Amino acid sequence: MATTLPSHASVVVIGGGIMGCSTLYHLAKMGVSDAILLERNALTSGTTWHSAAQVRALRHSKNLTRMIQYSVDLYSQLEQETGQAVGWIQKGSLSIATNPDRLTHVKRQEALAHAYGIDAKSISPQEAKERWPMMNADDVLGAVWSPDDGRVSPSDVCAALVKGAKSLGAKIFERTGVTGVLTENGRITGVETTQGTIACDAIALCAGLWSREVGAMAGAEVPALACEHFYLLTKPVEASLAICRPCLITTTTSIFATIPAVCWLVVSSQWASLLPPAF
Ligand SMILES: Cc1cc2nc3c(=O)[nH]c(=O)nc-3n(C[C@H](O)[C@H](O)[C@H](O)COP(=O)(O)OP(=O)(O)OC[C@H]3O[C@@H](n4cnc5c(N)ncnc54)[C@H](O)[C@@H]3O)c2cc1C
Repeated sequence: MATTLPSHASVVVIGGGIMGCSTLYHLAKMGVSDAILLERNALTSGTTWHSAAQVRALRHSKNLTRMIQYSVDLYSQLEQETGQAVGWIQKGSLSIATNPDRLTHVKRQEALAHAYGIDAKSISPQEAKERWPMMNADDVLGAVWSPDDGRVSPSDVCAALVKGAKSLGAKIFERTGVTGVLTENGRITGVETTQGTIACDAIALCAGLWSREVGAMAGAEVPALACEHFYLLTKPVEASLAICRPCLITTTTSIFATIPAVCWLVVSSQWASLLPPAF
């Protein structure tokens, strides 16, 4: 990583998670070769490090879906471009429903997928169990199978993006926290950091759940809110269970499961009930 802060950068990317690394990479690709990234700790030390990193193309808007489709293409090509593996495993995903409302939901997902040009199909509980034999499918009413989905290694994707960005002139500074944003007549003119001040023309706010605090440094209100997200990482499991399976999602209980390596990562995201009324 670079050690001496420049006095000026056209763009300062704040935050070294997946958003920051990807922003830096794409800026460099677009020819912004003097962009820098500032991370107050180490790259990926925020939420990115914890991610199950399931990559599921079907989202609630066409634009989001197209962005994920772009990501899938990017993950496939990044390793070749940078020499850094990204852990892309394309084993599909399985969304299961265990009550009638969710069955309607997953069927609508299937219809939406077709409208967005994504491969997805409804399957029976029996077929779901065949694809995921460890599942107790007694209460499963139906499922949607999306063969093109997969997962990545979040840290490795960041490493590849950073490698690609650096090869095009971008610089990364870890252990460099942004403590203030300088403005003049409503325009960004620089940032204050724990290592000194840098003049800049723009910032890219990629501080994840800390974006509200960093935005406030520039007088901006960022509607980002941190929510609890629980996960369970098992001990290494038997080789026969650790073979690559699709990502599994059950929206009824907001649980999803994936296999990062030789163990299971099970995540519960019961966050919706925690949001304040304004959200
Ligand atoms: C358990 C879990 C499972 C998940 N599973 C999935 C999944 O399967 N699929 C999926 O798509 N997403 C998943 N997510 C969500 C995903 O991990 C996040 O959406 C993503 O990592 C957010 O990336 P980010 O770059 O916005 O934020 P972060 O990774 O949090 O990065 C923000 C960075 O900004 C830095 N920062 C903050 N303030 C400052 C400052 N003042 N100066 C400098 N740096 C600063 C922080 O140190 C941090 O490194 C999961 C999340 C969790 C917790």
